[in-house]
Amino acid sequence: MRSPSACRRNLGRTHVRQDPDMTDTITPAGTAPAPLQFAVTKNLAAKTTAQREQILQDPGFGTHFTDHMVDVCWSERGGWHRPRVQPYGPISLDPAAAVLHYAQEIFEGIKAYRHADGGVYTFRPQENARRLQRSARRMALPELPEEYFLQSLRELIAVDGAWVPSAPDQSLYLRPFMFAKEAFLGVRPAKKVAYYVIASPAASYFAGGVKPVKIWLSQDYQRAAKGGTGAAKTGGNYAASLLPQSEAYAQGCDQVVFLDSDGNIEELGGMNILFVKKDGTLVTPSSDSILDGITRNSILDLARDRGLTVETRAVSLAEWRDGVASGDITEVFACGTAAVVTPIGALKGAGFEDEQPTGELALSLREELTDIQYGRREDTRGWLYRLDD
Ligand SMILES: *Cc1c(COP(=O)(O)O)cnc(C)c1O
Repeated sequence: MRSPSACRRNLGRTHVRQDPDMTDTITPAGTAPAPLQFAVTKNLAAKTTAQREQILQDPGFGTHFTDHMVDVCWSERGGWHRPRVQPYGPISLDPAAAVLHYAQEIFEGIKAYRHADGGVYTFRPQENARRLQRSARRMALPELPEEYFLQSLRELIAVDGAWVPSAPDQSLYLRPFMFAKEAFLGVRPAKKVAYYVIASPAASYFAGGVKPVKIWLSQDYQRAAKGGTGAAKTGGNYAASLLPQSEAYAQGCDQVVFLDSDGNIEELGGMNILFVKKDGTLVTPSSDSILDGITRNSILDLARDRGLTVETRAVSLAEWRDGVASGDITEVFACGTAAVVTPIGALKGAGFEDEQPTGELALSLREELTDIQYGRREDTRGWLYRLDD
């Protein structure tokens, strides 16, 4: 049984199969699937312009949400279907929905930026689309075609574009996510899945200026394991990081840095880490449990274009601590979509606390990157993608 909207998207293509929901599954590899036909239901209780403006005065991060959300269903039999834009609100789930028991879930994080000409752009969304597909493979979820991912962002901006702030360094944080909604307590990949996109206006992370963070080295806990799910953007990795994060707070630190299964530096659990050497070389850890950050990769590209050497390789704790002690390491910073670049001011672990050197490179790369994202500097690499035309 399908709602009428389930059939709406494939009008004109139904000559191939009687069941319009089957058309995605027979799209030949390498060709773009036909666009989804979203059914749009406007939120009658949408915030007024005045209410929205008031929220955008001080949006914080992740606490306010726009008026609508995107919702697309997937089933083993029907593929992607019933694409909708509907009022933002609670999701109704069967208590046996697999995600609630076995954490079969993935997500993305990407921002929309308002440029001076009023246009709304996002940054390298194709990379997020591909990463969502890689996360899906690891978590045995269906791969959302890249075109559908891009379309889902555009559909949401089409109704909620006014929520993209125009204040300097504010943005609209977009959160696409996918989860197993099939009601079944047996353990196997779910045959019914939901994909959503919600959006939340985000303040400039460092409204009062960029402030170096103090980080706690987690030696008792890891966030991910070799062969595990560390490289997938999945909720379970975050669940595993919460207890060590509480430990960090108790130690007077802001964030945690994790070690991988080989005892090398991994990442902060929500941000990747980079080291700057005295000669300007940028080093970032490589390990199969690291989440491949788009901010990190973009920063490495900017650094290469500046003529700096970039190394992606294992970094031991000893290399870090000795490098700081000897002056061979001149800066350490973390990066990710939410905070962009965060200098690390101190590393604390069991029985030691190392002050970290601070320099100019992290902030200058941050400025170059955000200038591109906000349209203040020419985008020579084709990184920007317009969402509102
Ligand atoms: C999302 C995420 C990052 C940062 O990735 P970006 O693409 O730069 O936002 C780093 N580590 C983890 C664990 C993440 O989930």
